[in-house]
Amino acid sequence: GLSRGGAGSATGGAIKRVLLGKPLSKAVLRDLEKALISADVGVKTAIELRKDLEAMWERGEVATGDEALPMLKEQLVAYFPDEDRTLAAAAPGAGPTVILVAGINGAGKTTSIAKLCKVLRDREQTVLLAACDTFRAAAVEQLGVWAERLGVQVVRGSQGGDPAAVAFDAAAAAVARGVDVLLLDTAGRLHTQKPLMDQLSKIRRVVAKQIPGAPHEVLLVIDATTGQNGVNQARVFSEATEVTGIFLTKLDGSAKGGIVVAIREALNLPVKFVGLGETPADVAPFEPAAFVEALFS
Ligand code: GDP
Repeated sequence: GLSRGGAGSATGGAIKRVLLGKPLSKAVLRDLEKALISADVGVKTAIELRKDLEAMWERGEVATGDEALPMLKEQLVAYFPDEDRTLAAAAPGAGPTVILVAGINGAGKTTSIAKLCKVLRDREQTVLLAACDTFRAAAVEQLGVWAERLGVQVVRGSQGGDPAAVAFDAAAAAVARGVDVLLLDTAGRLHTQKPLMDQLSKIRRVVAKQIPGAPHEVLLVIDATTGQNGVNQARVFSEATEVTGIFLTKLDGSAKGGIVVAIREALNLPVKFVGLGETPADVAPFEPAAFVEALFS
């Protein structure tokens, strides 16, 4: 289901503890596999990584945990190629770039949208925000507060109104005003696939009618502390609509977000941004090397 849960993934240096100061052995490799699973990278990935290392060890290419550690880091970093991290954009002169943001309530969607506004404003892009989640008055209110501070206008609907109608009005306004980027906030309270799919496809349809090629980017907000449940969320949203990237939130806490490795493995979704706190400035582009370093520390 879509509910939150999972213990998160405070690995507390478990991977390093397993490897450092030890010769490699079947037992060490088994412990490594367990530590990787605890770090949320997914069972399949953990087994693959262990097997690769085991093969190298059997061929005599690596003898100790200290030698294995940088190899393991390299293998994990390789899950996230360079070209993944840029935001897609509309062709020059083709009208606004449209970014749709999805995710379950509580994942940090409202905050992440404010962060995206900040990132785009810092790039001197003009932004229009569409509050398509018409059921959460408090979230719309919060979004409005951030938007005002960041100098971004918001298109809102009536409470409980049709989210696609808001998207329609916002797309028309974005074209009329000639803004660079239209950001669409979508509802995240849906617990079954059908309404989620219906709503997202309706929003996509009305937007694409006015802005060819839209949405150019569909970012899914995933909370780093949800553990393995993040894979379920990513799967449900990917089945409902074409997701193009992950915004990984709450990476400033004890959770290390190993879940994005499992998501990458299962659904081939790149990570574009990470959330590092509660204000619009607490955002950074995803950096695979730094991410893997933190996963091991
Ligand atoms: P939404 O329900 O998905 O729109 O989630 P919100 O944006 O309202 O965020 C839920 C809670 O998580 C709020 O208390 C946010 O301040 C907090 N939050 C969101 N992103 C981050 C983050 O990157 N780091 C931390 N520490 N808290 C975050």
